[in-house]
Amino acid sequence: MSLVVTNIGELVTNDPESEILKDAAVVVDGDRIVWVGAASAAPAADLRLDADGAAVLPGFVDSHAHLIFAGDRAAEFGARMAGQPYTGGGIRTTVTATRAASDDELRRNARRLAGEALRQGTTTLEIKSGYGLTVDDETRSLRVAGELTEETTFLGAHVVPAEFEDRPDDYVDLVRGEMMDAVSAYAKWVDVFCERGAFDGDQARAILKAGAERGLGLRLHANQLGPGPGVRLAVELGAASADHCTHLDDADVEALAGSDTVATLLPGAEFSTRSPYPDARRLLDAGATVALATDCNPGSSYTSSMPFCIALAVREMGLTPTEAVTAATAGGAAALRRTDLGRISPGARADLIVLDAPSHLHLAYRPGVPLIRHVLQHGAPR
Ligand SMILES: [Zn+2]
Repeated sequence: MSLVVTNIGELVTNDPESEILKDAAVVVDGDRIVWVGAASAAPAADLRLDADGAAVLPGFVDSHAHLIFAGDRAAEFGARMAGQPYTGGGIRTTVTATRAASDDELRRNARRLAGEALRQGTTTLEIKSGYGLTVDDETRSLRVAGELTEETTFLGAHVVPAEFEDRPDDYVDLVRGEMMDAVSAYAKWVDVFCERGAFDGDQARAILKAGAERGLGLRLHANQLGPGPGVRLAVELGAASADHCTHLDDADVEALAGSDTVATLLPGAEFSTRSPYPDARRLLDAGATVALATDCNPGSSYTSSMPFCIALAVREMGLTPTEAVTAATAGGAAALRRTDLGRISPGARADLIVLDAPSHLHLAYRPGVPLIRHVLQHGAPR
């Protein structure tokens, strides 16, 4: 079945040849985009979707989300807004709730959040484990994640679980040995929370190398709460993405700019922990590739909204609205090393959104307003 989306007032293609087209049309065949050009020249198709002069964008690529968990930490958020600092220690609260939940409870919660994200224009989600922290709980977390996305990430090294408190290196050995063996059939990526209070640079390196040996791609939570070795480690090991990048020195910025490692910024975390935002302008000006993602998780960033992150990146992080939209689409695709996502051009996957607005500028200009009118995912209206 083919479909023509026509009468597009503004088409954001992310194609370097034709970044933004006016009065355009897009033809989709099956799950692929097959034609892009002037509406007046569009070929015939089986079905027709009239965009009525609205803006059309690639679907958002949310390359960083923690959706496999149980429980709620609203009280912790409330306490933080009353002045308590964020330390990352609340992760263990979610670990306890997740271990106690059935597979079906985990599945229902993750589906609810993925549906929420889809309604806000997210057509690709990366989903991490990391609240099980036993061989069995990490394995089932990734099995459930795999029902929702092909971009699954093993984050056994999220935090040292309470039962390993006094012997963290034994936990690192478990993660890079038995746990990695058990999950590698279900995970595409491996990730480590490299931060004071979580895992140091040597531990992160050992775990990432063990993942690479089993064919997993590399990602790293780096430099969120303070300066540290994470960003440079990610670049050294050729990771697809260094995520957070809030506390960077000049050498970190230079390393990112000279590499294929994407700087993935997660402003929902700074919003929800009332912390200073990362400097996206500095990274782009240095030549780094920047992605925006939600970090959706029950503790430090409980939003599934890419439009919200775009608005924050424009207001608080020095990006123009166009740069923020690029980071939320093509940037996310680069962070997942996907060339078929985050763009509207022939050959790309038919993931696109029709806004309830004439321009992509409205995503930041009208913050908090539901502006997603239609979503096409894999060519199918959702
Ligand atoms: Zn995260």
